[in-house]
Amino acid sequence: MSNGRIINIISNKNYESRKTARLLSVKLADKGLIPSEAYDKDAELNICIGGDGAFLRAIHRNAFPQIPFVGINTGHLGFFQEISPKEIDSFIDRYLKGDYKTENIFLVDAKVCTKSKCFYLTGINEIVIKGVKSKIVHLEVYIDNNHLERFSGDGLIVSTPAGSTGYNFSAGGSIVYPSLPSLQITPLAPISSSAYRSLPNSAIIPGGSIIMIKPEYRYENSILVVNDGMEFKYEGIVSIDLTLSPNSIYKLNFSKDMYWNNLKSKFL
Ligand code: NAP
Ligand code: MN
Repeated sequence: MSNGRIINIISNKNYESRKTARLLSVKLADKGLIPSEAYDKDAELNICIGGDGAFLRAIHRNAFPQIPFVGINTGHLGFFQEISPKEIDSFIDRYLKGDYKTENIFLVDAKVCTKSKCFYLTGINEIVIKGVKSKIVHLEVYIDNNHLERFSGDGLIVSTPAGSTGYNFSAGGSIVYPSLPSLQITPLAPISSSAYRSLPNSAIIPGGSIIMIKPEYRYENSILVVNDGMEFKYEGIVSIDLTLSPNSIYKLNFSKDMYWNNLKSKFL
């Protein structure tokens, strides 16, 4: 246990990120902080360097820590990574002055039950239910035990507010402000024909609700569950319950306008 103020630096392996990590490390030490490149559980802040993928992996690998995150973007898009390498000095100054707010990042929980066992997943962006080998899926969708639809198509994305600008957005889903406790169900190539009828657009579900997805029994072995881009396959899926997680992770926010400025600069 150290009495100093430890700051974890979690960097991906590319050249630009490593260079930024070294620079950051020197600058933090200059201000009397203790940079740590090995993950220290007693740290007060996690600084993640890379793109959104690096941010997502840092959270999964460190088991959704309660230590807040801030991201320095050296990636392609870097939606979560709001600080640019050029802004390191002003970021450190503002951090030391406490000139920021700590924002909640809502998470999505999935309980995947097979005939023999239930498995638990937590996602930051989204959990996707789709078919293996590009097969169509037929899914019964219930909200709080009310039958909503029998979906046919490529699959369904269940995204968090923070994930709404990821896969969800590309699939035509809406952008949801990160402080709104909600989940969004977005169809992937829904079929609406005289044979099948699926909702063509996404639906935003309040945080307290349970989204239950049951694959048609003929398809119970053809379902792929994709958590923030990582694939999971289970035998004999009976049901998948998706809920807004009671747990959150935390991210520093340096300006209330950051979200809208970030959105405009990254998407328009
Ligand atoms: P990747 O293939 O590098 O990611 C795809 C792109 O999505 C990257 O440009 C990534 O930014 C960006 N991204 C990730 N999370 C985002 C968010 N919350 N808001 C806006 N953009 C975001 O794989 P990855 O970096 O490991 O990311 C996994 C994520 O990719 C998944 O969670 C899913 O949201 C997304 N995805 C998107 C599509 C699609 O749009 N058609 C398909 C599959 C997966 P960086 O360049 O900064 O990494
Ligand atoms: Mn990426």
